[in-house]
Amino acid sequence: MNTEASQKAFEEAQRLIPGGVDSPVRAFKSVGTTPLFITEGKGAYLKDVDGNEYIDYVQSWGPLLFGHCDEAIEAAVIDAVKHGLSFGAPTLAETELAKLVVGFFDSIDKVRFVSSGTEAVMSAIRLARGFTGRDDIVKFTGCYHGHSDALLVEAGSGAATFGNPSSPGVPADFTKHTLLAQYNNIESVKKCFADSDNIACVIIEPIAGNMGLVPADKEFLHALRKLCDEHGTLLLFDEVMSGFRASVHGAESITGVKPDIVTLGKVIGGGMPVGAFGARAEIMAMLSPEGPVYQAGTLSGNPVAMAAGYTALMKLKNNARVIDVLNERATRLVEGIQSAAAKYNIPMQIATRGSMFGFFFNDKPVKNFSDAAKSDAELFAKFHTGMLERGHYFACSLYETGFISTAITDEMIEKTVEASDAVFKEITNV
Ligand code: PMP
Repeated sequence: MNTEASQKAFEEAQRLIPGGVDSPVRAFKSVGTTPLFITEGKGAYLKDVDGNEYIDYVQSWGPLLFGHCDEAIEAAVIDAVKHGLSFGAPTLAETELAKLVVGFFDSIDKVRFVSSGTEAVMSAIRLARGFTGRDDIVKFTGCYHGHSDALLVEAGSGAATFGNPSSPGVPADFTKHTLLAQYNNIESVKKCFADSDNIACVIIEPIAGNMGLVPADKEFLHALRKLCDEHGTLLLFDEVMSGFRASVHGAESITGVKPDIVTLGKVIGGGMPVGAFGARAEIMAMLSPEGPVYQAGTLSGNPVAMAAGYTALMKLKNNARVIDVLNERATRLVEGIQSAAAKYNIPMQIATRGSMFGFFFNDKPVKNFSDAAKSDAELFAKFHTGMLERGHYFACSLYETGFISTAITDEMIEKTVEASDAVFKEITNV
């Protein structure tokens, strides 16, 4: 595979942009290779500046449920663009998208749109604090909730990859209200409640996707709900990644546990920058201008982004089976790779939730971040490079989740599984 043009592009980018990238994890640092500079995405495929093509299992880290350049989303965006890029005034498109979101989520009566997942979570935390009049929050090691100060504590994703979960530049004073618990471990949450009677909310990725894919156990989430109720604490499901990917109706529809606040992102923007947070009316009434909790955004509810999101969610509404179909494919993919690995005595743990998939080179089940961290990172790097060389683009860190889109066919998955066999063969020299 020739990557000369990407290498050259990366050198130039590094002279102008820190690390050559605008978001750390895409730098390919943890796999030790050069990031590919992308020129185009079409359906299931990505094309780089050297003209190489890849089946894309990253899908822009989640948003592209319908693949690249989906016709309907593209047409909606172009139409919106022709009417103006931004007004800073209310539009009908916001209400239409809000109607869809409220219809999909039992726990959401009202929703506010922002421009990123980070913003959604940051605002939702402020809302939870404003509503309860309390300061402390509980988060889980290995869960990533964007890069706002209070949440950059033992976070997953890029923060885990780079081994500096608490970032310099975040004053200790800003994180002193963030209590840490262990994922899937209710005793660790009980300890937080024993340590503080001032907990505004417990924030969790109910289907964690930032330490690899690690879904929470149902019993754990039920116990969490009960604890929150006992202490008058709000339960916040961060579904920026899992929303509309694991299920059309949220993790609450899979687990039977209803959160108080939900944060969304990625898929609801159809590929454009959109985030959102929603809750029952009583909580949302605290938000400015209805209530006293301030939150705002010049480009919030941007008409082009709303058009993309609306079209993506309408596609989902009109074809509710999509997530099940994608889950069958995602399962075929990871089971196929796992069987190929087994031929070469490589142990693998696999998981899927809807169109999300994950795998660990680990001989034990993964329930939390410390389990995930015991996976074979060197083997993962070799696997990633080998797959890339054969035209299969996977997330470049063992702490990330993979994504299937409707553009990825069974034949493509078969090809990817075959390639994985060849890669394992090469790695193990059999
Ligand atoms: N929460 C979760 C669960 C996420 O996965 C992410 C991003 N991967 C975020 C929040 C932050 O979203 P953004 O990158 O759009 O700011």
